[in-house]
Amino acid sequence: MTKTTYLTTANGAPIAEDNNSISAGEHGPLTFDNYRLFEKLAHFNRERIPERIVHARGYGAHGTFTLTKDLSDLSLAKFLHGTNKKTDIFLRFSTVAGGQDSGDFVRDVRGFALRFYTEEGNYDIVGNNTPVFFVRDPAKFPDFIHSQKKDPKTNLPEPAHHYEFWASNPQSMHQITILMSDRGIPKSLRHMNGYGSHTLSMWNDKGERVWVKWHFKTNQGIETLTNEEAAKMPADGMQADLVHSIDKGDFPSWSVKIQVMTEDQAKRYAINPFDLTKVWPHSDFPLMEIGQLELNRNVENYFAETEQAAFAPSNMVPGVGASPDKMLQGRLFAYADAHRYRLGVNNQQLPVNRPQCPVHNYQRDGLMAQGAQCPFSGHNQNSSVNFYPNDREDTPKPKPEVAEPPMPLAENAWIKAYDTRDEDNYSQAGELFRLMSEDQKQQLARNIAGGLGRATESVQKRMIQHFTLCDPDYGMRVQAELEG
Ligand code: NDP
Repeated sequence: MTKTTYLTTANGAPIAEDNNSISAGEHGPLTFDNYRLFEKLAHFNRERIPERIVHARGYGAHGTFTLTKDLSDLSLAKFLHGTNKKTDIFLRFSTVAGGQDSGDFVRDVRGFALRFYTEEGNYDIVGNNTPVFFVRDPAKFPDFIHSQKKDPKTNLPEPAHHYEFWASNPQSMHQITILMSDRGIPKSLRHMNGYGSHTLSMWNDKGERVWVKWHFKTNQGIETLTNEEAAKMPADGMQADLVHSIDKGDFPSWSVKIQVMTEDQAKRYAINPFDLTKVWPHSDFPLMEIGQLELNRNVENYFAETEQAAFAPSNMVPGVGASPDKMLQGRLFAYADAHRYRLGVNNQQLPVNRPQCPVHNYQRDGLMAQGAQCPFSGHNQNSSVNFYPNDREDTPKPKPEVAEPPMPLAENAWIKAYDTRDEDNYSQAGELFRLMSEDQKQQLARNIAGGLGRATESVQKRMIQHFTLCDPDYGMRVQAELEG
């Protein structure tokens, strides 16, 4: 016999009637006795939390990272020790510019935010499906994003604004070349690579640090769509493809590779290794395969897991670290700050954000402090002492052996705002262009001309100059498409 489940209020009391409100007479107004109705309406009014300003439209799934190469010589992090070691992961893909209810098959960068639930805490690599980004300084980020969003008056997308920003910011040329190439619209989330994009770091038990770039190469193969093909796709097609593949056991996977640069190599390398608009050429720093990433479990509840997943590049574990990459430094602040705004100061206590290890600290209270933050820490850390240092035995203490090795500043490191206008903004975009087939070059020029054609004459002229500096043929092709 099945047990009957009764409808209840949020305080757990059974509800006798949920179809009709209480009114004064059959045709009369409602009364204050309707407190159950008030709870229903009030909760409904609060269903939405602030949408992410970027990466609002997301798609999440759980899975496993299997380490196939022992990295104990490079990193103290236990999830990188041994072979065949498995770590639970959560991966959230996203588009960047559109809101939560925008379409899937837009020409846009895709977010590739990965969380490793390691035994020593959560490690988040909050990357994209591109190895570089549009800007190298976080001071430019809000302006860049505003230029990609809808026009403040008409509330319509305005490609002319994209190019107006880019014409004054040639540091975007490399990323524009990727975005406008055939890879700008993946066929599905399974058919694209992921990249940590930033230069991150690892350090070992001897206090030696190396700089690291992470690459996640799709095992499904790269597949892309043209603008015309994308226009015929259903708005939710990428979400459907991901959920259905995992449901039927066709688990998408990625080969995990890293590039490694020593601190000494970094000092002598011709390219600034911390510039997010640049890659490290594979011929200089070959990819080393270290593992496999597999998605094998769909979320049970989209809001609780995918929407509330709070990735932050500041979530690190002993043995992995950040780097002087200026964009990364900005994100170390901005991501955790965004989550405090969207989800509250205790966002890391939500199930999808909880580490799989004990949490012991002296932080207490705040909005929505949860019970059982971790299996061991109890309700808001129960009655345990809430200040440090203290004289008690068995209270949380720092662990000096996990201190990150100190990072020297370059000599003559004057504190000021450094102007990077004279950086080489063109060579790597040109290298990518020259790698492309005839068909890819034509698609690239056509895709650019589509939006650039809406910009002013001055913006068009400056953009053609930028493309020409990447490669004269690149400039000529865009010019020809604009005129055609
Ligand atoms: P390689 O010839 O060793 O590698 C070229 C890389 O370009 C491959 O990783 C390939 O990815 C990728 N690629 C091919 N077409 C596109 C595209 N339309 N959009 C984005 N990536 C693409 O060259 P280098 O390492 O010397 O780099 C040359 C250029 O390749 C760079 O300037 C950069 O634009 C691009 N690139 C380089 C990467 C790096 O980390 N070095 C990473 C990604 C791109 P795949 O193997 O998956 O087909």
